[in-house]
Amino acid sequence: MTPVADAVSALKEEIAHCRRCPLHCAATQAVPGEGPADAAIMLVGEQPGDAEDLAGRPFVGPAGQLLDRALAEAGLDRDRLYLTNAVKHFKYEPRGKRRIHQKPNAGEVQSCKWWLNREIALVRPRLIVALGATAAGALSGRAVSVTKERGPMSFGEAQGFVTVHPSFLLRLPDESAREREYRNFVSDLGRVRKE
Ligand code: SF4
Repeated sequence: MTPVADAVSALKEEIAHCRRCPLHCAATQAVPGEGPADAAIMLVGEQPGDAEDLAGRPFVGPAGQLLDRALAEAGLDRDRLYLTNAVKHFKYEPRGKRRIHQKPNAGEVQSCKWWLNREIALVRPRLIVALGATAAGALSGRAVSVTKERGPMSFGEAQGFVTVHPSFLLRLPDESAREREYRNFVSDLGRVRKE
């Protein structure tokens, strides 16, 4: 392993023991980022979902599978990307046997930014892609409207790009809207590949 890969691996261990906010209490485990330590592109989502919480890996549930499909169509190899989330523990509300996703609040995002900053400092990606408003807000330090600000954006000194979170596509009730938005998402990822 390279020294950077070693450092990324050590960081994952640290994240596993984090108690900086209350979200660790109800989650199964922390879900750190994964991917090559020298990845040129980092994708940042909101937080792990139910499947990710159980697996301990990011983007392995339904939204992750949709992301995989879109990445492949856009010509991006998932294995060459670093995938992570703005918040590393799953926030949910129990409803019967189900665990319903809850959006992390500003304080939780701020607490977890500590880890996101450290991932960025170690991996030093050429481009950071925010998937959805929570990631864009964490990276830019302000509220971001994905509808109005979709596309290239600077995150501090890093070059960034804002697009939707794949779970947005899954929530669209209308099939034609879902197909249209999926095409837009693939098109955004195609731009990311060329940036
Ligand atoms: S959500 Fe982030 S800040 Fe909160 S306990 Fe988990 S790793 Fe720590």
